[in-house]
Amino acid sequence: MPVPARTLDGTAAADAIYDSTAVAALEFTEQHGRAPLLATVLVGEDPSSQTYVRMKRSRCRRVGIDSRAVELPASTTTAELVARITELSQDPAVDGILLQHPVPSHVDERAAFEAIAPAKDVDGVTMASYAAMAFGEPGFHSCTPGGILRLLDVNGVDPAGMHAVVVGRSPILGKPVSALLLARDATVTTCHSRTKDLADHVARADLVVAAVGKPELVRGEWIKPGAVVVDAGYHPGGIGDVDQAGAAERASWLTPVPGGVGPMTIALLLEQTVAAARRHARAAV
Ligand code: NAP
Repeated sequence: MPVPARTLDGTAAADAIYDSTAVAALEFTEQHGRAPLLATVLVGEDPSSQTYVRMKRSRCRRVGIDSRAVELPASTTTAELVARITELSQDPAVDGILLQHPVPSHVDERAAFEAIAPAKDVDGVTMASYAAMAFGEPGFHSCTPGGILRLLDVNGVDPAGMHAVVVGRSPILGKPVSALLLARDATVTTCHSRTKDLADHVARADLVVAAVGKPELVRGEWIKPGAVVVDAGYHPGGIGDVDQAGAAERASWLTPVPGGVGPMTIALLLEQTVAAARRHARAAV
């Protein structure tokens, strides 16, 4: 009889981060007479993006972080967005900046991300943050990839020496999680839409990270028995990028959907906002 996979419980791990972040935010507020401040920037009226920003701001309130909402119309140009983010980068009252992804297609998202001062890049989206992740140097982690690594760590899953197969190479997920895993001594294969024989790559993985945005693309029967499976996907109805039922019969560890990777993303964002506020306050003295 196969032993069902153990759960990589993102809700429990995120709650622990919220608790420690609330303590750190209170300590910061007592020391500096103000709470850490996260500026959220939303361009346009995409309902999912509006929901994500609302959730992030509500979580900020619950742990004692202030937030400032910047909402811009869908017609905002790249130059206007860059100018607004540059103002926030230069504003001494702002500790962290989150630009909600995706921005409308006419906007150059990379130019907008690069307007975020690296010291305030608490969502880990700038090239400077990416380089720090790749070199294993201190810096802010891209929140979903950083959350995935933390979830492995708190469950005692060490990627060192594992063959990790990452399905997806987006700038916010596949590429940075590959960089973080390599920095943690995994042997990493990064797959994408032009990869041939995806099933063969996945079948050789000790650790699979699915970050592809296609419901259940990664089939349970592809999973090597005993592999660790991280499903970053989320689709309506609680469906991930992995065939969860099939994977549960073969994997040793599996992230549920929902309640796996998702909760870790916001938790890392808040933790990094308090860290940015501390560094910001130290730099100001
Ligand atoms: P994305 O920007 O659309 O990137 C998808 C990636 O998958 C691309 O690199 C693409 O390859 C690759 N791909 C597409 N079809 C493929 C195929 N048939 N075989 C192999 N690779 C294929 O998506 P994303 O923003 O990284 O998000 C990925 C998933 O994570 C989504 O389900 C999203 O909802 C979820 N997500 C979750 C969180 C969270 O907090 N839990 C945060 C962000 C995203 P190319 O590069 O060749 O196009």
